[in-house]
Amino acid sequence: MILPVAPTALTIVMSRGQSRNPEKRDVEAAIVKAASRLAGVTVLDLPHLYDLKGTDESIRTLRAIEGDLIVCSWLFPRAAHWLLDRLDVRGQVGETAFDPEPEDEDDEAAATAESEPRVSELFPRQGRTIHCLDMRAADADKLAVEVLRIAETANRQAETESAPAIGSLAGAWGPGDGVRSPLRLDETVTRRWYPVIDYSRCTNCMECIDFCLFGVYGIDGAETILVEQPDNCRKGCPACSRVCPAGAIIFPQHKAPAIAGAPVEGDEGFKIDLSLLFGAPDQTADPVAVAARERDEQLLLVGRQAVGMPDTRNRDREKTKSAPDQLDNLIDLLDQADV
Ligand code: SF4
Ligand code: SF4
Repeated sequence: MILPVAPTALTIVMSRGQSRNPEKRDVEAAIVKAASRLAGVTVLDLPHLYDLKGTDESIRTLRAIEGDLIVCSWLFPRAAHWLLDRLDVRGQVGETAFDPEPEDEDDEAAATAESEPRVSELFPRQGRTIHCLDMRAADADKLAVEVLRIAETANRQAETESAPAIGSLAGAWGPGDGVRSPLRLDETVTRRWYPVIDYSRCTNCMECIDFCLFGVYGIDGAETILVEQPDNCRKGCPACSRVCPAGAIIFPQHKAPAIAGAPVEGDEGFKIDLSLLFGAPDQTADPVAVAARERDEQLLLVGRQAVGMPDTRNRDREKTKSAPDQLDNLIDLLDQADV
């Protein structure tokens, strides 16, 4: 069953945490209560998004919503955004007051010019906006104020575009007035562990599918990498995040913030090898060697043979193959030009 959600300009989604920590429950309850006082806004109170599957009622309900979203979770915003994208809940990245300062424009432009095309540039997401708030970023009051600020902005925009408006937000946080019950779903979920791909970084290079020997990755009809069998991933292992040259693989529950999707200080659009920062036990250690060791540990645990370092011979062969190919092309061009 999909919960009937009235078409509103804005839906506020609460992704409850996995732990039983009472302080976290209090923060979640405070935000849900505050959000429920906003006229014309739908509030969805769901289990932890990372643990949900596409077939779950929570996700099917979310998919049916077309308007903007504010998603509150105990995840870094980048992890939450691409986790939803994986579940076909897609949109543009919405700004929040807790975002890091934007990069210098010149640096950003230079980095973009130098970089490979990203999957999200090749397949742009739809126009609606998804604002992801990490509930670790501030206390409940500040988070509630930020939810209100985003809602007011969405309200002004809806009025301009004649979309279903949120309604009067005046006195929205006042006691007792207009409080409505949030739509709460309580599916039983178990903790999961799998990679999430940030397609704003991914260049579709296929390093991850070559590296993973557990069949987690696959390719869709458009020849784009995807996490096809998430539950084949080995719990606690982040190996492939270390070999991704674009720093696009996130393990949202990993204890190292950079692997879990935190903004990286000095991130210059991947001109640097982000894998060096990705929680390798020794910062001087080769991240690919660390990843190979982690992969071997997992192979041995399931009774398979260790394989050691990734075999780069195929890639080397590709490189050497490309030189004659380029020469052949040049000769063809010269022939056509009749030189
Ligand atoms: S290794 Fe990284 S950039 Fe390459 S396809 Fe996988 S996720 Fe994308
Ligand atoms: S962590 Fe290991 S098992 Fe999981 S997707 Fe990456 S390489 Fe595959």
